[in-house]
Amino acid sequence: GYQRVLEENRKLYNQVQDLKGNIRVYCRVRPVKGQSNKLSSVDHIDDGSITIITPSKYGKEGRKSFTFNKAFGPSASQAEVFADTQPLIRSVLDGYNVCIFAYGQTGSGKTHTMTGPDVITEKTMGVNYRALSDLFMISDQRKDTISYDISVQMIEIYNEQVRDLLVADGVNKRYPFYYMLVSSTIIIIINISFTDIVLVSLTLQTLEIRNSSQNGLNVPDANLVPVKSSTDVISLMNLGQKNRAVGSTAMNDRSSRSHSCLTVHVQGKNLSSGTLLRGCMHLVDLAGSERVEKTEAVGERLKEAQHINKSLSALGDVISSLAQKNAHVPYRNSKLTQLLQDSLGGHAKTLMFVHIAPEHDAIGETISTLKFAERVSSVELGAARANKENSDVKELKEQIASLKAALARKE
Ligand code: ADP
Ligand code: MG
Repeated sequence: GYQRVLEENRKLYNQVQDLKGNIRVYCRVRPVKGQSNKLSSVDHIDDGSITIITPSKYGKEGRKSFTFNKAFGPSASQAEVFADTQPLIRSVLDGYNVCIFAYGQTGSGKTHTMTGPDVITEKTMGVNYRALSDLFMISDQRKDTISYDISVQMIEIYNEQVRDLLVADGVNKRYPFYYMLVSSTIIIIINISFTDIVLVSLTLQTLEIRNSSQNGLNVPDANLVPVKSSTDVISLMNLGQKNRAVGSTAMNDRSSRSHSCLTVHVQGKNLSSGTLLRGCMHLVDLAGSERVEKTEAVGERLKEAQHINKSLSALGDVISSLAQKNAHVPYRNSKLTQLLQDSLGGHAKTLMFVHIAPEHDAIGETISTLKFAERVSSVELGAARANKENSDVKELKEQIASLKAALARKE
């Protein structure tokens, strides 16, 4: 009796804790590039903190520690990283909105965590693939009680413009030829099928973000593709990857200067009660967070840097404004925060992977990355809430209160 009450109490307490929607921050340090005897700027890593060696101008002792919900060292495997992400991912099947994003300077391992290295095997695949196959597995286990529909979208935000990555052959279906040719927004088409030369100006398709739409789709015009298996997902992600690469040949590694987002939409129908639930998960590989020296950047490069700066600082502003419980949260200051709006409020679960490149020459960026992360992880948001009517948290709190009362009577 007594033991069971205690156990139940603990279980419920954990469930309530689990439902708390504060932003979690995991730090991941990748291996040092090249020879393994090369020194690292990371002094040591334990389960929840990392200590870096700082040049004297950054601190008295030359050591500084940062604390996170979790820290992964260079030897942490993709499977280990995923294991600590899995509960969050599964909650999307219970109707929660989830956002996982990868932050860090270019080359620090963002894509490695989210997607994997260039050659992706079962062992090396990143969070994206593992998340989807896990969702398929769990939805299959539940198929006698809940029927799930899972669909995905994949978009890119580059220079504050939203582009669909799930279009055939890397091109906009309607204007394929022109899309390949042009990088500005206005193009002129010379139509020679008529004797007159007809000049038509077109706006290159950039997609709108709409928040709080009925069906939870905030980029309604991006292709939404139903997926049934991991194989479906792999071929879609290959397409998306290829489409990102199309931009990069023209603009030289564009992927590090754009945000890419895989969005998973889940709809579940309870087969006996008919209740519907809806969950949405954004898996975001952010643009490189490195500051571009003002003196170096000109033209296109400067413009990109300004857009990245703007969106990453908008992300920081949104989070700190949520932390201060401001009435107005400036979601609309960037496309990125607009896109993530539903996943960055008090009712969603958010996880940020912060990536560290351990080389000494990256120390400046490492410190500013860790400071950004520290600012983010100090946030406590309200309890997460599933997109369904009954409030789980309230129910659990009541149960805990009554169990506590029962416990008190026993003592
Ligand atoms: P980013 O996306 O932040 O620019 P990448 O994910 O492309 O960085 O990583 C840069 C390089 O380092 C890649 O070759 C990648 O495979 C490798 N790498 C990154 N993280 C790890 C890791 N944890 N273990 C092994 N190799 C890694
Ligand atoms: Mg990358």
